[in-house]
Amino acid sequence: MTENDKLKTLKLLAKRCARAMGQPQHVALDFVANRLGFPHWNALTGSANREWTPSEAQVASIKAFVERITSYEGAAFDHVFGGPNAITRGDVRGHPYELKTMLGDVYMEGEGWRIVLPENPSAAPNVEIDISHAQNSPINDRVLLAEAIGIAKELMKSVKARRFSDWPRRATKPDAEGTVRHPFLEMEKSNLWYCLHCDAEITGPQIAGNQWHCPGCGASPINIFPEAFWLGRNDEKPAPVQSRAEEQEIEPIVSVVDPRPRLDLNKNQVTHLIRSALFEDAASASERMGASLAEIWVDDDLEVIVSLEDHYWPEDKEPTAAIKVAALLGIEIELEVTWSDPLFAWPGLGTMTRSTAEYTRMMLDAYRSKGIVEERGGNR
Ligand SMILES: [Zn+2]
Repeated sequence: MTENDKLKTLKLLAKRCARAMGQPQHVALDFVANRLGFPHWNALTGSANREWTPSEAQVASIKAFVERITSYEGAAFDHVFGGPNAITRGDVRGHPYELKTMLGDVYMEGEGWRIVLPENPSAAPNVEIDISHAQNSPINDRVLLAEAIGIAKELMKSVKARRFSDWPRRATKPDAEGTVRHPFLEMEKSNLWYCLHCDAEITGPQIAGNQWHCPGCGASPINIFPEAFWLGRNDEKPAPVQSRAEEQEIEPIVSVVDPRPRLDLNKNQVTHLIRSALFEDAASASERMGASLAEIWVDDDLEVIVSLEDHYWPEDKEPTAAIKVAALLGIEIELEVTWSDPLFAWPGLGTMTRSTAEYTRMMLDAYRSKGIVEERGGNR
């Protein structure tokens, strides 16, 4: 396998993993990167081809892992109840609220305050009060707050009652040996379980008692497996989870927040604005490719260096929109020229039209009459 093939394979495996687990693709990509020792997928691809390449063994271990996950295909992964449109209105001691449930969590919102009750039963309710209401919010009243949380908990109870009615009985009631059945992976039963996120070892009664959320890190039921099959021989052995004392009431976490959008300009935002401006500056299909190929490098002080590729961006062409954007942001912009192999032969063709389709046609015609075209299926 070439290095590029390995990355492609990892990406494909992450896609399959995402589909099987009902998770967004970027979560699965980050997950694969984690397993290979990177904080996230972009860090992995950033290092790939430079100081690091995945070994055949690493690719094989991810492959084995994903095969194991997808072998559960057909198992009913979690169903999501509720949604943004199912809203209940009411009032708590004369203060109106809206109540809804999304992805298993319960959301309650009043004027200048909101409460989130996480699906994980051992996580604290999260209470936010807008700063403009901080002094006189009804939520400051502890009795009223407790009542509001009580209302949210009632909804949570009914959401969970509907959820548990789909679960096998053994998922919530351990037998005499402490054996429980996984709520979604119904073929799996065990008295010891492992968390994919924190590698904790969890007993059957512990996991059932915490409604299949990891008592250690709070990971959701799809992260709980009867074997820690993702751990290699040299990885640390899973340790028994430390769970909090049972039936202990969890204090809500109250914070005062400023709900106004806050701009704290970061590299990513600067990069997108500058690239968008380069596209605006591009006067031809060729220059648009130049805008797309440009390397935009933003340093920690948000100073930006734009490397424009000589074949696609004339050296004497000022990217005026990009310069204007940088000025508005109050950041320095430096331009430089780079030379690399053009994407296609005869890059100058792209200066003759504004249309990318038109350029593509000219480029294909040129290859057909003056070059060699590898034939492939598809429209021509
Ligand atoms: Zn965990």
